[in-house]
Amino acid sequence: MEDCIFCKIVAGEIPGEVVHATERTVAFRDLNPQAPTHVLVVPRRHFANAAELAAGDPEASAELLTTAAAVAADEGHDDYRLVFNTGAGVGQTVFHTHLHLLAGRPMTWPPG
Ligand code: 5GP
Ligand code: ZN
Repeated sequence: MEDCIFCKIVAGEIPGEVVHATERTVAFRDLNPQAPTHVLVVPRRHFANAAELAAGDPEASAELLTTAAAVAADEGHDDYRLVFNTGAGVGQTVFHTHLHLLAGRPMTWPPG
């Protein structure tokens, strides 16, 4: 999709620190990390959010989770948090589905 920053990272058109890639997903470090490990796992195909991905490409949807688990294991984390922000009202700023993987520090609940 034109003008989508994550489509451009997936395509290699702009730099991203890629830590893992599969047939359907790419995982790269967040530019503004909120934890020692903060990786974004995205589908290669463009969807606006998690629900649209699940409806449109269920295999990629599942692969986001297995990729996130693989990255957490690679980085030595048994404990980690996975987040999908859906909608500007809860802080979604990039409208290409992305799963946040956060790990490496204590976290509180409920989230802010
Ligand atoms: P959201 O707020 O939409 O859930 O998350 C978007 C995330 O993308 C933010 O954590 C932000 O730091 C990250 N981000 C925005 N632009 C870029 C970029 O160009 N490269 C990388 N690696 N991360 C980005
Ligand atoms: Zn996109």
